[in-house]
Amino acid sequence: MDDNCLFCKIIAGDIPADKLYEDEDILAFHDINPEAPLHFLVIPKKHIIGPGYIDETDQEIIGKILRKGGELAKENGHESFRLVANNGAKAGQTVFHFHLHVMGGRPFSWPPG
Ligand code: 5GP
Ligand code: ZN
Repeated sequence: MDDNCLFCKIIAGDIPADKLYEDEDILAFHDINPEAPLHFLVIPKKHIIGPGYIDETDQEIIGKILRKGGELAKENGHESFRLVANNGAKAGQTVFHFHLHVMGGRPFSWPPG
């Protein structure tokens, strides 16, 4: 737990979130500012700064986040979806606690802007 981290505060229940899934390792909740009809985030309960800060002991949890992200997208009726994890401000990261964006329900362009 990082006392200054928004997503750690959501995990602790100090800030409310619209949750889709929770277990002992991970939490999935709807993005407050959705960029697609389906847009939720999957995060580890452990404070990992971002995709550039995953250590060997985190590999299982990151795999679980990927698996669960896809599973929840499909459960919510989306066969096509995009998974995004930003690392660093220049890549668009604004919250420095690892999060997988799961987005669907509209076409996406490639490469992303
Ligand atoms: P990033 O830009 O770091 O990849 O993504 C951060 C995401 O967190 C953004 O899509 C933003 O809308 C979302 N977000 C920021 N603050 C909150 C919040 O308090 N609650 C929820 N549910 N999402 C948030
Ligand atoms: Zn955190």
